[in-house]
Amino acid sequence: MASVAAWLPFARAAAIGWVPIATHPLPPPPMPKDRRKTDDEKLLINVSGRRFETWRNTLEKYPDTLLGSNEREFFYDEDCKEYFFDRDPDIFRHILNYYRTGKLHYPKHECLTSYDEELAFFGILPDVIGDCCYEDYRDRKRENAERLMDD
Ligand SMILES: [Zn+2]
Repeated sequence: MASVAAWLPFARAAAIGWVPIATHPLPPPPMPKDRRKTDDEKLLINVSGRRFETWRNTLEKYPDTLLGSNEREFFYDEDCKEYFFDRDPDIFRHILNYYRTGKLHYPKHECLTSYDEELAFFGILPDVIGDCCYEDYRDRKRENAERLMDD
């Protein structure tokens, strides 16, 4: 006998067809004209083959960084209509999230040196690392310095 938990998703999927649509009214989708009003535009950012998408206004929140300034135009690929960066896409995810949330997180599994290099490339100072990650970052920095001194 399969457990209830195993077949529940199937029961739910089957029920979708049975529930009259009117009992679950959804809010109407946002009208496209709302978006057009804010002269924003979606930008495609290709980082070593992994594609990220964001709004131009999101990037321009921090105008003294590479992505937030005109500097990014040096990386624009006219043929593909995208920005191309030959950088680490795993770390880039955290960089892009900084623009979205205003908080920079430090992925503990990443090598500190390569993380620092990516931040420097994109013109972001490590002092914007959020309180949730700052201690980890600082501890790792100290460990690294000690290790280099031992060598
Ligand atoms: Zn964090």
